[in-house]
Amino acid sequence: MARKTTRQKLKTAQKAKAARLKDRKERARADTKAIHGTPPQWTPTEVEEAFRRFAAANPAPKGELQHINPYTLLIAVVLSAQATDAGVNKATPALFKLADTPEKMVKLGEARVRELITTIGLYRTKAKNVIALSRILVEQYGGAVPHDREALEALPGVGRKTANVVLNVAFGEPTIAVDTHIFRVGNRTGLAPGRTPIEVETKLMEVVPERYRLHAHHWLILHGRYVCLARRPLCEKCIIADLCKWPAKTAFAVPSSLARQESVAT
Ligand code: SF4
Repeated sequence: MARKTTRQKLKTAQKAKAARLKDRKERARADTKAIHGTPPQWTPTEVEEAFRRFAAANPAPKGELQHINPYTLLIAVVLSAQATDAGVNKATPALFKLADTPEKMVKLGEARVRELITTIGLYRTKAKNVIALSRILVEQYGGAVPHDREALEALPGVGRKTANVVLNVAFGEPTIAVDTHIFRVGNRTGLAPGRTPIEVETKLMEVVPERYRLHAHHWLILHGRYVCLARRPLCEKCIIADLCKWPAKTAFAVPSSLARQESVAT
């Protein structure tokens, strides 16, 4: 067989690059359309089926932020704003070794906290917030994390998303914290379209059957983080590919591994 010339190789590479760019643009267009358009609605049977599969695949999903108690969970979530869980997990063991209660954190002081979290984005503001919220917990709540949305959201550095995570993980409430992954999955799949996180959260609370709500938060985050990736979703490995309404998805059938798993389970 004749060998390709350098010029031919270059052309092939350029074509491959153009195809990749086209795919990427198509996916970005489909994402924008999903957020601003009206994707086909899921039927209650489809929603039930999706969560039945998530539950079968991972019956007790867990968050990935390391923590020891409700207080360290709260601090880890505050530190995770605009940062990755993996990045936060690298810094928190040393921090929590020195301070796993608000009293100890206040004693540790802002300068030392800042030093311990310099690898996390926005560390200066976060160190300030960690000390300020710890002081409030000591002075107003006897050092405990309040089981109350309003009280949580009033703490420095704590917004609705953080409060939802704490209420869900520390207190077992069926809340859904919409982060970047859940926002994307909700819109992309058509399960819970919305232009803002609160719209997506409201829609999810409406459509997710009650018995799945406690774990829905973790299933959807893990799905977005490891399968429905922003740039190149792994549709071929997706257990809800046949239910997903995203026009740019690249797979339509349930993977055979899931079909086998389902036939064993039923
Ligand atoms: S098929 Fe799955 S991975 Fe692909 S876009 Fe839909 S939910 Fe995401």
